[in-house]
Amino acid sequence: MSKLKIAIQKKGRLHESSLKLLRTCGLKIGNSTSKLKTQVQNFPLEILFLRDDDIPKYVQQNIANIGIIGENEVLENEVNVDIALKLGFAKCRLSLAIPRQTDYESISFFSNKKIATSYPKILARYLKDNHLTAVVEEISGSVEIAPGIGLADAICDLVSSGSTLQMNGLKEVETILQSQAVLISNIGLSDEEVKVLDQLKFRINAVKAARKNKYILLNAPNDSINKIIDILPGMRSPSIIPLADPGWSSVHSVVNEEDFWNVIEKVKSLGAEGILVSSIEKMIV
Ligand code: ATP
Ligand code: MG
Repeated sequence: MSKLKIAIQKKGRLHESSLKLLRTCGLKIGNSTSKLKTQVQNFPLEILFLRDDDIPKYVQQNIANIGIIGENEVLENEVNVDIALKLGFAKCRLSLAIPRQTDYESISFFSNKKIATSYPKILARYLKDNHLTAVVEEISGSVEIAPGIGLADAICDLVSSGSTLQMNGLKEVETILQSQAVLISNIGLSDEEVKVLDQLKFRINAVKAARKNKYILLNAPNDSINKIIDILPGMRSPSIIPLADPGWSSVHSVVNEEDFWNVIEKVKSLGAEGILVSSIEKMIV
């Protein structure tokens, strides 16, 4: 079976979550991530540890066949790679921010202003799409201090909670794009390589589905079972197991985390008792 090379961030925000995802997929990865590369012991995969800015290029050139990277880097590097899967972590947005006290009415504010960013290409495209002329000042880090030190009037930077902006006296006024970690792949993989990628995608999807769902067990009086089944659709349908106490059954099902509390309240009001909830490790639908 052919072996794939996957590039992940050597250190930084994506490093831990990328390794954790691969490990949750059952891959045995040694602990010595200080090395430049490491072999996965039980899956045809070699891991390369790289700077995140370099990963899109390396995947385009097939030096790494696949990689885990923020969507923002894929867009900034203007590379031609496939986005194989969205991974659901490292969620953030690329936004424009200005000093808190500055009045802001519309995007025309940025006309002829100086904007500091580490994402000059995305910003230039955004300005062009909005028919604005502004000076793009490219800096590689600590973008949020640029207005405070007189380097720029505004910044274009990644935001998640917004606390960094707040600490630096800035306010977010426009969102340019939303980003999250993605699995990218070279566009010319061989059939054999695609097979390995598909196996990895299958496992990642099982982990992602499991993270989004909870396993729920409850006891319910038989006369409200039908109503409870309507609320708890489950994967196919819930399992109903009679309890030793006649008139009662145990119901087992899977609930999406998003409507979880809503579901719990409804089943409780229908007489459900002894509700147990646990996380799911893998889920194959
Ligand atoms: P490297 O040394 O590998 O070049 P870096 O400093 O460029 O690392 P990090 O700060 O580790 O990059 O961020 C990596 C990615 O994490 C970003 O490209 C982005 O996709 C994601 N991310 C998620 N939330 C945030 C945030 N609040 N600020 C910055 N990046 C974030
Ligand atoms: Mg970087």
